[in-house]
Amino acid sequence: MIVAIDGPAGSGKGTVTKIIAEKMNLQYIDTGAMYRCVALKMLEEKVSLEEKEKIKQILDNIEIDLKGTAVFLNGKEVTKEIRSVEVSNFSSPVSTISFVREKMVELQRALANGKNIIMEGRDIGTVVFPNADVKIYLDATSEERAKRRVEQNEKNGLESNYNQILKDIIERDNRDMNREISPLRKADDAILVDTTSLSIDKVVEKISDIIYNQI
Ligand code: C5P
Repeated sequence: MIVAIDGPAGSGKGTVTKIIAEKMNLQYIDTGAMYRCVALKMLEEKVSLEEKEKIKQILDNIEIDLKGTAVFLNGKEVTKEIRSVEVSNFSSPVSTISFVREKMVELQRALANGKNIIMEGRDIGTVVFPNADVKIYLDATSEERAKRRVEQNEKNGLESNYNQILKDIIERDNRDMNREISPLRKADDAILVDTTSLSIDKVVEKISDIIYNQI
């Protein structure tokens, strides 16, 4: 079974998807973490967005392992590093590169092969698994999403500034929604859940009901 969860940053996707994965015994796959790994590797190797050949080399040698919520890049755990502000901002332009997306989609399809999974991202219901058994699109206002990101950063001991985060979120949304390849959008057959004024428990309950009703 494939459950696809799409939506913008801070829509609650990450938190909720992890809880549902555990609750329903589905394998959790965070596709944003995969784009973040590519961005981190490029930053580490000081490769710019223009250096296509170098990026291709990185992709040819990249190994991304998702073990539950832990993320490993070429054998090294990077769960925390990929959440830095620098990686967050750089992962968005990195994800507009067509051959980066092709490679990630290929890896995502391979990861799901023959398994019961719940996969979160931006293009899961539209591109990666257009035939997913369940498709959900989570959304919330940008102000609410910025507030949540500040709280999440504080929990992870990362520095944060609400106004800067709100600006970054709006910029990132614009880029994600207006890029030429696989823009962030709700699949026509996805169910929209607005999480702005809902608690995490309530969102989990809503999505669990949707999944139970569709399988
Ligand atoms: O979801 P998360 O914020 O971790 O994603 C990091 C970046 O990766 C996003 O800015 C988005 O541009 C990109 N992304 C994507 N397609 C996905 C998942 C993430 O383009 N399926």
